[in-house]
Amino acid sequence: MTNHYHKLIRQFSQTFSDLGSSLIPVGNLDSYPIFGGALGSPQAPFHLLLTAGLHGDEPGSPAGLLQWLQRAYPHWRDQLYLCVFPCLNPYGLEHCQREADGGVDLNRQFHQYDFRLAQGLHCLLQGQRFDLAIDLHEDIDTEKFYVWEIAPKPLWGPRVIQGILPLVPVYHLESPDGAPAVNGVISQTYASLSRKIKERLRGRPLSHFLTEHYTDHALTTELPGKLPLARRVAIENVLLNHVVQRGTAAYMRPRSRRASVMRSNDTM
Ligand SMILES: [Zn+2]
Repeated sequence: MTNHYHKLIRQFSQTFSDLGSSLIPVGNLDSYPIFGGALGSPQAPFHLLLTAGLHGDEPGSPAGLLQWLQRAYPHWRDQLYLCVFPCLNPYGLEHCQREADGGVDLNRQFHQYDFRLAQGLHCLLQGQRFDLAIDLHEDIDTEKFYVWEIAPKPLWGPRVIQGILPLVPVYHLESPDGAPAVNGVISQTYASLSRKIKERLRGRPLSHFLTEHYTDHALTTELPGKLPLARRVAIENVLLNHVVQRGTAAYMRPRSRRASVMRSNDTM
């Protein structure tokens, strides 16, 4: 794994090319181009949005995504339509820091109407609706996994946890931020966040922006950053396979002929 943004983007671009698609520039941030791309047919039953690298000191998130696209995605391509933003914080990645240039935590800026990253996401995603969005993160201070979930009701988080439990322990009662974590899952809506958490956040995270515009259901996964990179990458691969296996099973019917299954029924 390298922290060199342009090399990382070349690797993603090559992977997209190998898969018959293209990574395209969707905007600029801190003088770096930001990229996104789509894979598979919009007619595929399960639509998934994946974002990575929003915090620059969490390199396992884009590294795991790259490996999963190269090794696992081809097995799912007929059932899966995917939009991917492989690295949303180039400056942070290059400088091995959480924040973007100027010390800006990008995951606290999505309340701003004219935020550059938000505009870049709109550029690729406008008019689309996803069954699930996953914002891939790492918590650099932990040896355990946990996941934030925004959903009409908690549906997937517990099963995501079940899928990776053989690999890594999870927070069972409370996340490192002090949020209640039931068996590794923090269920939330922006309105329901406690004052304490809101004060700590000081701004809107990407997952809340995505649930406002592009999905009813968002996961923010937090790999345990204290584990070796290769192990984190392996965990993220298992996690994504597990989610996609569940998702493609849940969304078997063509999109044009189904209601939103997961909104009303827990079919997984
Ligand atoms: Zn993060």
